[in-house]
Amino acid sequence: MSTDMMPSTDGTAAVAESPAASELAQFEPAEREGGLADAAGRTLAWPETAVAPVRVRWRYAVGIPLVHLLACLGLAPYFFSWTGVAVAVAGLYVFGTLGINLCYHRLLTHQGFVAPKWLEHSLAILGVCTLQDTPACWVAMHRIHHKHSDERPDPHSPLVNFLWGHCGWLMFQNRDFLNVNYYSRFTRDLLRDPFYLKLERAGNWLWIYLSSMAAFFLLGLAIGWPLWGGAAGVRFGLSLVVWGVFVRTVATWHITWSVNSVTHVWGYRNYETSDNSRNNWLVGLWSNGEGWHNNHHADQRAAAHGHRWWEFDVTWITIRALERLGLAKDVVRPRAWAKR
Ligand SMILES: [Zn+2]
Ligand SMILES: [Zn+2]
Repeated sequence: MSTDMMPSTDGTAAVAESPAASELAQFEPAEREGGLADAAGRTLAWPETAVAPVRVRWRYAVGIPLVHLLACLGLAPYFFSWTGVAVAVAGLYVFGTLGINLCYHRLLTHQGFVAPKWLEHSLAILGVCTLQDTPACWVAMHRIHHKHSDERPDPHSPLVNFLWGHCGWLMFQNRDFLNVNYYSRFTRDLLRDPFYLKLERAGNWLWIYLSSMAAFFLLGLAIGWPLWGGAAGVRFGLSLVVWGVFVRTVATWHITWSVNSVTHVWGYRNYETSDNSRNNWLVGLWSNGEGWHNNHHADQRAAAHGHRWWEFDVTWITIRALERLGLAKDVVRPRAWAKR
């Protein structure tokens, strides 16, 4: 979902400064006095800027439960099909792993590799189809998260409480992030590209999502109608929408949100970072590599998040495949691998 805290979309947000790799240095974890903060038992106060006074972001507070309800339709026999289930599972990779992990996170936020623009933009469209905000909004929130991990103004630290870190933060307006300058500072490299600026314009993200729904329905109809007749074709098309779009969207949400919540609470640490990030094998597996989150906080630009041989990272395997095909260049490896 897009956001109501976007800067003006007339192009003024695009600050004409070069996005150099050195720029990203500001997103490296800040050294804190006292060094390591292993946060066992440490808590974070509610962000005052979100709770005094409380302002609900209705687009999220209504939209998130609504899509959950639509996903529940998948349990009704009319909307159920095993093909729909298979499409949903495949969609976790196509939209979640390629769109969010690989594009929004490792490519756009951290510039862990370079891809041709046609590929980068196509992958970004897949990310938009997960209803996790536009690329610029996602990137801004995530860079702020890295700059202030588990301290104010981290947008989604679970040290406030677990539900806040998981999805509660989306539903309340946080005045920390209403300032346009503050916002554009974190995304100026992205918003220099007219493609990303266009995605910020009102409603474009919604049209993309609705178009994906129409595509799933028409595909099901085109396959089902000739095989089983009109009524069965409509039903098959709807099952692809419910499973391939709504169930998959909800699953992708919770997978991404669990990286924000679970892997800042439970798991082991390979690196003594100043935040509370953890490597969690369960999240590592179901998120296709994003759950090796302590590794990621320790070495943010690295395109591989699994640093040990058994830290399985499907997203990294995909980036390696793109590299072999000549579609990913300047791929940043973990610093720890150079010491081997
Ligand atoms: Zn990150
Ligand atoms: Zn984190």
